[in-house]
Amino acid sequence: MNSESSIQQLLTQVTRLLDQDAPLIDIYSDLESVILDLFSAERLSIFQRRRQHQDLVARFKTGTETVEIKVPISPMSVAGYVALSQKSLIVSDPYNKELLTSIHPRLQFNQHFDKSNNFKTRNILCLPILNAGVLMGVIQIINKGASNSSEEFNDGDLKLAHELTQILGNKFRYELGGTNNPFDYLVHKNKLEQKSLDELIESSAETKTLIQRLISEHRISENHIGSALSVHYQVPYISFLPEKYHIFQSDSKLNESYLKRNHVAVIADANDNPIVLMVEPNNAALLMEIESALGIDVYEIAVGLPNHIFQYLGGNAGNTPGEMNEILDEMTISTEEDDEHTDELSDDAPAIVRLVSRILHDAKRLNASDIHIDPEKNAPTRVRMRVDGVCRDINQVPNSHHSAVIARIKIMANLNIAEKRIPQDGKLAFKASGQLVEVRVASVPTVAGEGVVMRLLASGGAMPIEKMNLAQSNLERLESMIKKPHGILLVVGPTGSGKTTTLHAILGYLNTPEKKIWTAEDPVEITQPGLQQVQVSPKIGFTFANALRAFLRADPDIILIGEMRDKETAHAGVEASLTGHLVLSTLHTNSAPETITRLLDLGLDPVNFSDACVGILAQRLIRTLCKSCKEQYTASPDEEAFIRRQYGEAYIGELNLESPLILNRSKGCDDCGRTGYKGRTGVHELLGMTPELRSLVYKEGSVSEMKQQAMQDGMRTLVQDAIFKVIKGDTDIAQVQIISGVE
Ligand SMILES: [Zn+2]
Repeated sequence: MNSESSIQQLLTQVTRLLDQDAPLIDIYSDLESVILDLFSAERLSIFQRRRQHQDLVARFKTGTETVEIKVPISPMSVAGYVALSQKSLIVSDPYNKELLTSIHPRLQFNQHFDKSNNFKTRNILCLPILNAGVLMGVIQIINKGASNSSEEFNDGDLKLAHELTQILGNKFRYELGGTNNPFDYLVHKNKLEQKSLDELIESSAETKTLIQRLISEHRISENHIGSALSVHYQVPYISFLPEKYHIFQSDSKLNESYLKRNHVAVIADANDNPIVLMVEPNNAALLMEIESALGIDVYEIAVGLPNHIFQYLGGNAGNTPGEMNEILDEMTISTEEDDEHTDELSDDAPAIVRLVSRILHDAKRLNASDIHIDPEKNAPTRVRMRVDGVCRDINQVPNSHHSAVIARIKIMANLNIAEKRIPQDGKLAFKASGQLVEVRVASVPTVAGEGVVMRLLASGGAMPIEKMNLAQSNLERLESMIKKPHGILLVVGPTGSGKTTTLHAILGYLNTPEKKIWTAEDPVEITQPGLQQVQVSPKIGFTFANALRAFLRADPDIILIGEMRDKETAHAGVEASLTGHLVLSTLHTNSAPETITRLLDLGLDPVNFSDACVGILAQRLIRTLCKSCKEQYTASPDEEAFIRRQYGEAYIGELNLESPLILNRSKGCDDCGRTGYKGRTGVHELLGMTPELRSLVYKEGSVSEMKQQAMQDGMRTLVQDAIFKVIKGDTDIAQVQIISGVE
């Protein structure tokens, strides 16, 4: 045993080594010899936890080679068990199976190392490395004393090792980028003041309450909270994504109320790999209980928010949420006191306001696409929501409050509350989890009274059409084209030119509650509430043409056909547009005029096609200059000549070029990884079908004839639009050269 002073000396050496700010692997061998000295032991492994995986990894060098040992966090090994249970362990004989079983029924000792190295593990001292209550790794010290001695690890060693793990824990948190407190990251990211966080921690007894208050009082998004938890607990964050994850089906009867009470859901990904989703993933005791109930060896751990975990557990299956009941109770009480003034916004106003707000928030939480508030004669008003395409009864509002609820919604949507006989359209917006949710509102007069249909617009789904960076004239022309009740609009360009984004921006613009929109896509990349989106699967014979025929039976107003791959689809699309539908689709053609000849080559009738076509939008994506390192400069004569030549002398006047010509460039910085570019934007070529162009199509004119006519009618080419975006300062000439193929 080392003397007290030599122990202190060795511990100081450890601290000094760790303070060097070098990665663990670089100091590993020095650290190893000091620690082995400290314990007079033979072998050492220091494992670090990996954030994306439920495992530990020990990395060290032998000569120039880096060796990696990975151990799952599970009872299948000593280190794995210590990590799982977060309990220190002295194993006096790892070859004694009974001893291992008495610790955990499935605990095993991996003899592989001993066998391949002609080594005998006599005893093990193994401790979790914890910091701020979070598992950072495991230290495993093997064989006390000289070989073939009968010495064993004792309580003194345990105490010393514990001291060591404290030092290591600090180092690991620094190296893994962890935080002291689950919500520190929000302060680091300037989402929250340290003072506010301190107050919240002070006044919230439970993490669950604290999270709710971060969302409701501080308007912090769920994703930011999730990231903070992920950084702190060193596990991935998983939000409520029912299309990606489902509840893990196992034989174990993990009681639902147990799971709800402990804020745990065991979910599985598409490959049925189990993931234990917890609000506090450092709760080892809980994890052990779940692990033993599940009886599985391999699983991941992730952190989730309480409401998402509740949703995975099926906490929203159309039941009236508690808070809504409370509001309804309150209203019932007040109507008893005052039966006469129940119409419009009367004494119940605060309750009505909260009831409507609750309905909207529930709809958002349930990811509903529509809310229907349907009047019933002499019966309670039904509140229904469409979730995943299916309408559900959510709750009922007393008949006496029907008009007040409708009036409140109409006020929020700026509709005329006095007018109850004709349908009105409007918009409202509300904030949920710090996110602005837009709602289209339509009032619907019926024989039973006035109803309301609301459609929630996706905030993350479709890009607003104004954000597409269309030149003003293109935006105006495109809007007038898609406002037509029928016809066909094509978006064309190679793969990766942003066609899907554009089509969904257009659909988002058209998506109002009274419009029936069906889409056939392969695959469905962007989802929007209110749309009926269908995934086609040509491999099994469900083609775009099949989908289109099926759609026509449902008589939608607007149809999106992902792609016109063949004559049959193109033909069916034109037919549909001629029979009163607005049809949107894409083609893999390079330019707008070329698209016309391609379709005529496919065998489409020129008269039918030109009658049906409302416009063709060709597009590309170009890279935009990094705003952090963007600077202005005077264009060189060569650059100015390039711009004039490419835009065309006949059109250059409309750009009102200044003299000298000022352009932008980015020299590269840390923000853009020294590339000078950050983000992308679209360049567009929008062809409108005018009578002049139509007669050219009838005659099956050449591409260049049609291009000339289209330009006279207002079309600007992709290259022209790219130059416009250079002048505007979005991009540089190099990006134009990529579009034009000109060096
Ligand atoms: Zn930059």
